[in-house]
Amino acid sequence: TPEAALVDSLIASIPDFPEHGVTFRDLTPVFADGAALKALSTALTAPFEGRFEYLGGLEARGFLIAGAASIVTGAGVLSVRKAGKLPRAVLSQEYSLEYGVAALEVHVDQLPVGSRVLIVDDVLATGGTALAAANLMERAGWHVTGFAVALELDGLGGRAKLEDRGIETFSLLQY
Ligand code: IMP
Repeated sequence: TPEAALVDSLIASIPDFPEHGVTFRDLTPVFADGAALKALSTALTAPFEGRFEYLGGLEARGFLIAGAASIVTGAGVLSVRKAGKLPRAVLSQEYSLEYGVAALEVHVDQLPVGSRVLIVDDVLATGGTALAAANLMERAGWHVTGFAVALELDGLGGRAKLEDRGIETFSLLQY
Protein backbone atom coordinates (compact mmCIF):
# COMPACT_ATOMS: atom_id res chain seq x y z
CA THR A 1 0.00 0.00 0.00
CA PRO A 2 1.15 3.63 -0.40
CA GLU A 3 0.97 4.07 3.39
CA ALA A 4 3.28 1.12 3.98
CA ALA A 5 5.71 2.32 1.32
CA LEU A 6 5.85 5.81 2.84
CA VAL A 7 6.47 4.52 6.37
CA ASP A 8 8.99 1.97 5.11
CA SER A 9 10.96 4.67 3.29
CA LEU A 10 11.45 6.57 6.56
CA ILE A 11 12.54 3.76 8.91
CA ALA A 12 16.23 3.96 9.74
CA SER A 13 18.20 0.76 10.47
CA ILE A 14 21.14 1.12 12.85
CA PRO A 15 23.59 -1.79 13.05
CA ASP A 16 25.02 -2.83 16.42
CA PHE A 17 22.60 -0.80 18.56
CA PRO A 18 22.02 -1.07 21.48
CA GLU A 19 24.58 -3.87 21.38
CA HIS A 20 26.78 -5.72 18.92
CA GLY A 21 24.90 -7.93 16.46
CA VAL A 22 21.52 -6.22 16.92
CA THR A 23 20.03 -4.03 14.19
CA PHE A 24 17.87 -1.33 15.75
CA ARG A 25 14.89 -0.10 13.72
CA ASP A 26 14.40 3.59 14.38
CA LEU A 27 10.96 5.06 13.66
CA THR A 28 11.69 8.58 14.85
CA PRO A 29 11.89 9.79 11.20
CA VAL A 30 8.36 8.44 10.68
CA PHE A 31 7.10 10.43 13.67
CA ALA A 32 8.90 13.54 12.41
CA ASP A 33 6.99 13.41 9.09
CA GLY A 34 3.41 14.59 9.56
CA ALA A 35 2.03 12.86 6.49
CA ALA A 36 3.72 9.58 7.41
CA LEU A 37 2.50 9.72 11.02
CA LYS A 38 -1.04 10.30 9.82
CA ALA A 39 -0.78 7.51 7.24
CA LEU A 40 0.58 5.15 9.91
CA SER A 41 -2.23 6.04 12.31
CA THR A 42 -4.88 5.45 9.67
CA ALA A 43 -3.38 2.15 8.50
CA LEU A 44 -3.02 0.72 12.03
CA THR A 45 -6.56 1.53 13.11
CA ALA A 46 -8.53 0.78 9.91
CA PRO A 47 -8.51 -3.04 10.41
CA PHE A 48 -10.15 -2.56 13.83
CA GLU A 49 -12.60 0.21 12.88
CA GLY A 50 -15.72 0.34 15.06
CA ARG A 51 -14.33 -2.19 17.52
CA PHE A 52 -12.54 0.00 20.09
CA GLU A 53 -13.16 3.10 22.19
CA TYR A 54 -9.59 3.50 23.46
CA LEU A 55 -6.05 3.28 22.13
CA GLY A 56 -3.63 1.72 24.60
CA GLY A 57 -0.31 3.44 23.95
CA LEU A 58 2.81 1.70 25.27
CA GLU A 59 5.39 4.09 26.70
CA ALA A 60 7.13 5.75 25.02
CA ARG A 61 6.91 5.44 21.25
CA GLY A 62 3.46 3.88 21.44
CA PHE A 63 2.26 7.15 22.98
CA LEU A 64 3.12 8.98 19.76
CA ILE A 65 1.15 6.56 17.62
CA ALA A 66 -1.78 6.49 20.06
CA GLY A 67 -1.98 10.27 20.19
CA ALA A 68 -1.97 10.65 16.44
CA ALA A 69 -4.42 7.76 15.99
CA SER A 70 -6.72 9.35 18.55
CA ILE A 71 -7.17 12.39 16.32
CA VAL A 72 -7.77 10.15 13.28
CA THR A 73 -10.35 7.92 15.02
CA GLY A 74 -11.83 9.92 17.89
CA ALA A 75 -10.80 7.23 20.39
CA GLY A 76 -9.24 8.24 23.70
CA VAL A 77 -5.74 7.29 24.82
CA LEU A 78 -5.00 4.90 27.67
CA SER A 79 -1.52 5.56 29.06
CA VAL A 80 0.28 2.25 29.59
CA ARG A 81 3.34 3.39 31.50
CA LYS A 82 6.59 1.95 32.73
CA ALA A 83 6.82 1.22 36.44
CA GLY A 84 6.73 4.01 38.97
CA LYS A 85 5.37 6.86 36.83
CA LEU A 86 1.65 6.88 37.61
CA PRO A 87 0.51 8.78 40.71
CA ARG A 88 -2.69 6.92 41.66
CA ALA A 89 -3.44 3.26 42.42
CA VAL A 90 -2.04 1.02 39.69
CA LEU A 91 -2.19 -2.48 38.34
CA SER A 92 1.32 -3.68 37.52
CA GLN A 93 2.37 -6.44 35.12
CA GLU A 94 5.93 -7.71 35.06
CA TYR A 95 7.54 -9.14 31.94
CA SER A 96 10.93 -10.58 31.11
CA LEU A 97 13.62 -8.70 29.27
CA GLU A 98 16.78 -10.25 27.90
CA TYR A 99 18.43 -9.23 31.17
CA GLY A 100 16.06 -8.97 34.13
CA VAL A 101 12.45 -7.85 34.34
CA ALA A 102 10.44 -4.73 33.66
CA ALA A 103 6.83 -3.79 34.41
CA LEU A 104 4.01 -1.92 32.72
CA GLU A 105 1.35 -0.12 34.74
CA VAL A 106 -2.08 1.45 34.31
CA HIS A 107 -4.28 3.36 36.70
CA VAL A 108 -6.57 0.66 38.02
CA ASP A 109 -9.78 2.65 37.55
CA GLN A 110 -8.83 4.52 34.37
CA LEU A 111 -11.56 3.07 32.10
CA PRO A 112 -15.01 1.56 32.68
CA VAL A 113 -15.13 -2.23 32.96
CA GLY A 114 -15.75 -3.70 29.49
CA SER A 115 -14.01 -0.89 27.62
CA ARG A 116 -12.56 -2.04 24.30
CA VAL A 117 -8.88 -1.19 23.84
CA LEU A 118 -6.67 -1.38 20.75
CA ILE A 119 -3.05 -1.64 21.92
CA VAL A 120 -0.51 0.15 19.71
CA ASP A 121 3.29 0.28 19.57
CA ASP A 122 6.10 0.91 17.11
CA VAL A 123 7.90 -2.46 16.99
CA LEU A 124 6.90 -6.07 17.78
CA ALA A 125 9.90 -8.28 18.59
CA THR A 126 9.46 -11.18 21.05
CA GLY A 127 5.96 -10.05 21.99
CA GLY A 128 6.72 -9.84 25.69
CA THR A 129 5.81 -6.18 25.95
CA ALA A 130 2.54 -6.47 24.05
CA LEU A 131 1.53 -9.59 25.98
CA ALA A 132 2.19 -7.84 29.30
CA ALA A 133 -0.01 -4.96 28.16
CA ALA A 134 -2.77 -7.37 27.15
CA ASN A 135 -2.54 -9.11 30.53
CA LEU A 136 -2.94 -5.75 32.24
CA MET A 137 -6.06 -4.94 30.23
CA GLU A 138 -7.65 -8.25 31.11
CA ARG A 139 -6.82 -7.93 34.80
CA ALA A 140 -8.36 -4.45 34.78
CA GLY A 141 -11.57 -5.77 33.21
CA TRP A 142 -11.03 -4.23 29.79
CA HIS A 143 -11.38 -6.05 26.48
CA VAL A 144 -8.36 -6.26 24.17
CA THR A 145 -9.61 -5.62 20.64
CA GLY A 146 -6.17 -6.34 19.23
CA PHE A 147 -2.59 -5.24 18.86
CA ALA A 148 -1.52 -2.93 16.02
CA VAL A 149 2.15 -2.27 15.36
CA ALA A 150 4.08 -0.38 12.71
CA LEU A 151 6.85 -2.94 12.29
CA GLU A 152 6.89 -6.67 13.07
CA LEU A 153 10.28 -8.36 13.31
CA ASP A 154 9.89 -11.87 11.92
CA GLY A 155 11.51 -14.90 13.50
CA LEU A 156 11.28 -13.76 17.12
CA GLY A 157 7.96 -15.43 17.88
CA GLY A 158 6.01 -12.31 18.75
CA ARG A 159 3.00 -12.91 16.54
CA ALA A 160 2.66 -16.54 17.67
CA LYS A 161 2.84 -15.51 21.32
CA LEU A 162 -0.03 -13.06 20.84
CA GLU A 163 -2.17 -15.22 18.59
CA ASP A 164 -1.82 -18.17 20.99
CA ARG A 165 -3.58 -15.92 23.46
CA GLY A 166 -6.27 -15.02 20.95
CA ILE A 167 -5.01 -11.48 20.39
CA GLU A 168 -5.66 -10.29 16.83
CA THR A 169 -2.41 -8.79 15.59
CA PHE A 170 -1.89 -6.37 12.69
CA SER A 171 1.46 -5.06 11.47
CA LEU A 172 1.91 -2.54 8.68
CA LEU A 173 5.42 -3.77 7.82
CA GLN A 174 7.35 -6.99 8.41
CA TYR A 175 11.16 -7.24 8.42
P1 IMP B 1 9.33 -7.23 22.58
O1 IMP B 1 8.73 -7.08 23.94
O2 IMP B 1 10.49 -8.15 22.54
O3 IMP B 1 8.28 -7.57 21.53
O4 IMP B 1 9.95 -5.82 22.19
C1 IMP B 1 9.11 -4.79 21.79
C2 IMP B 1 9.38 -3.55 22.57
O5 IMP B 1 10.75 -3.20 22.49
C3 IMP B 1 8.60 -2.39 21.98
O6 IMP B 1 8.10 -1.55 23.01
C4 IMP B 1 9.58 -1.69 21.09
O7 IMP B 1 9.43 -0.29 21.16
C5 IMP B 1 10.95 -2.11 21.63
N1 IMP B 1 11.83 -2.57 20.53
C6 IMP B 1 12.35 -3.78 20.31
N2 IMP B 1 13.14 -3.81 19.24
C7 IMP B 1 13.12 -2.57 18.74
C8 IMP B 1 13.74 -1.93 17.58
O8 IMP B 1 14.46 -2.52 16.77
N3 IMP B 1 13.44 -0.62 17.41
C9 IMP B 1 12.62 0.06 18.24
N4 IMP B 1 12.06 -0.49 19.31
C10 IMP B 1 12.30 -1.78 19.56
